[in-house]
Amino acid sequence: MPDELKPCPFCASEVGIVAHWRQEGAYAALCLNNACPVHFATGTAAYSTPERAVECANTRPLEDALRAELNTLREIHQDTLVEVDMLGADRILQKEKQNALRARLTAAEALIGILKMYAPSGANTQLDTALAAWEATNANDA
Ligand SMILES: [Zn+2]
Repeated sequence: MPDELKPCPFCASEVGIVAHWRQEGAYAALCLNNACPVHFATGTAAYSTPERAVECANTRPLEDALRAELNTLREIHQDTLVEVDMLGADRILQKEKQNALRARLTAAEALIGILKMYAPSGANTQLDTALAAWEATNANDA
């Protein structure tokens, strides 16, 4: 018995190898679904052996090419989804880092306010230099 047949490419029903309706001793691959839109068209080609009929019925270069293209597109789609997830995760991470830096900056500004209160300008030159550097940094951020 011939190899397993692929289903009908038009209706996905079972395909059978039958005696060709017109050529004596020839075989045809026929969609077994009478309601298939191309039921009769599937049985028109005549093959010398049942094996040859199966081989030809299973040979579908366009379908194979389209399936290969579909698989490639599925892979691209999957890769894109992974990239989008990574970008989303990266954005969340960036936002968290930004929030942490803002909190650190707020704390530093509070400390500087306290330092200014307890060490007035001129009392400590190192502190004055550090505060001037800090304020220059703030001016650059604005
Ligand atoms: Zn069919």
